[in-house]
Amino acid sequence: MKAVCFRDVEQIETIEIEDPRIEAPGDCIVRVHMAGLCGSDLHPFYGRETGLDPGTVMGHEFVGEVVEAGPDVKWQVGTMVGAPFTTSCGDCFYCQQGFFARCEQGQLFGWRERGSGLHGGQAEWVRVPHANGTLVPLKGIAPEIGLLLGDNLSTGYYCAEMAETGPRGVFAIIGCGTVGLLCAMACQSRGVENLFAFDPQTHRLEVARQMGAHVYDNQAEFVDAIRKATDGRGADGVMELVGLPAAQALAFQVLRPGGILSVVGCHCTPQFSFSPVDAFDKNLTYRTGRCSARLYFDQLGQLVENFETELVGMISHKFSLADSVRAYDVFANRKDGCLKAAFDLTL
Ligand SMILES: [Zn+2]
Ligand SMILES: [Zn+2]
Repeated sequence: MKAVCFRDVEQIETIEIEDPRIEAPGDCIVRVHMAGLCGSDLHPFYGRETGLDPGTVMGHEFVGEVVEAGPDVKWQVGTMVGAPFTTSCGDCFYCQQGFFARCEQGQLFGWRERGSGLHGGQAEWVRVPHANGTLVPLKGIAPEIGLLLGDNLSTGYYCAEMAETGPRGVFAIIGCGTVGLLCAMACQSRGVENLFAFDPQTHRLEVARQMGAHVYDNQAEFVDAIRKATDGRGADGVMELVGLPAAQALAFQVLRPGGILSVVGCHCTPQFSFSPVDAFDKNLTYRTGRCSARLYFDQLGQLVENFETELVGMISHKFSLADSVRAYDVFANRKDGCLKAAFDLTL
């Protein structure tokens, strides 16, 4: 099959590799219809995260059709399915509580290290282990939305939820990439009336504005606006979706004492940008971690209905699998106003 594979830092290529096969009774093979490019694909791409085996199929966001199912799998061949970015067994201590992100047997799609792990979704077919506990039937949902539910939309919603956003209070978003914009959408759906968003990239801010946020590309103005809106206290909840020390420092700065800092940006540095004393003095609540995306396929039905057009429009650029080098370039460098890119295998 054709697949987009990791070769080395800043080198991916579309090559022919062996087709995936059923390896266990609970496995499925999904024929991919659409596969997303995600900000976190760029961590290994740029070498910020190391250890990914050359030859690994990239990507952890895909939707498609079940074309082969192991004997233990309940999904019928022909079912259109979405997948969260990690697998989940459905049976362990964590899965039983809906905390799928920490399934004892969970694996991330598109991550192979020293010969073990899972290939990703940027390919014609993908093998899905624990298919019963991992896959979700799409039931008529557009493929674009299925992709977003598998990671970015669910993660954005999770971030808004951890910050305890709602109609009362003042909230701030730092980072308006795809997840940040979807977090703003989540805030709107949760009735947030006072939302401030910061990103140095102006073209994304226009979308955040459409989601009801007061938007800033100037950091000093952003800080000042939150101060003015809160009698100098700071925001009740701050959502940080960047994963860099400067963003964390800014988030801490604009948060009021007793507020909640909700972080879904993937931090790669070993230390916090504020000290334990700072945290104590602010009575800080810090919430972070991988989102249990599978949970949200069922929970976000109303949001998906209300924002269908905006969600489909979020995938601003589509490419064929063969065009992977250009796809990564356009997405990584935010060329041509790119919000989010996907491989459309029906092209
Ligand atoms: Zn992703
Ligand atoms: Zn589990």
